Amino acid sequence: MSTILPFTRLSTNDARSHGNDCAHRHIRLAKHGGTVSCSDCGAALAPFSALSMLAEQYGLALSQIEHLKNRLALADARILELSKTLDAIDNLKRAPKQRSTET
Ligand SMILES: [Zn+2]
Repeated sequence: MSTILPFTRLSTNDARSHGNDCAHRHIRLAKHGGTVSCSDCGAALAPFSALSMLAEQYGLALSQIEHLKNRLALADARILELSKTLDAIDNLKRAPKQRSTET
């Protein structure tokens, strides 16, 4: 049985430590030599920093999935509620009209 470890959001200052404004969001892995670099600015990155960034992005993605699931559940409930209302209106329109004044 596998264990899933929750990632917590980490703040890193790697972009600033390289002296440029690049956030190094796109990493390149060099299989030969096992190095990690930024594909945007070419800066060499510490593997731990790259892993931290990936963990942060992973955590954000998971929380976004959870948020979207909640929105989907609310939307489904609202659609069901509106469908019931429309059905009730449709039933009222189709029902034979009763004349209250008829004797
Ligand atoms: Zn970069």
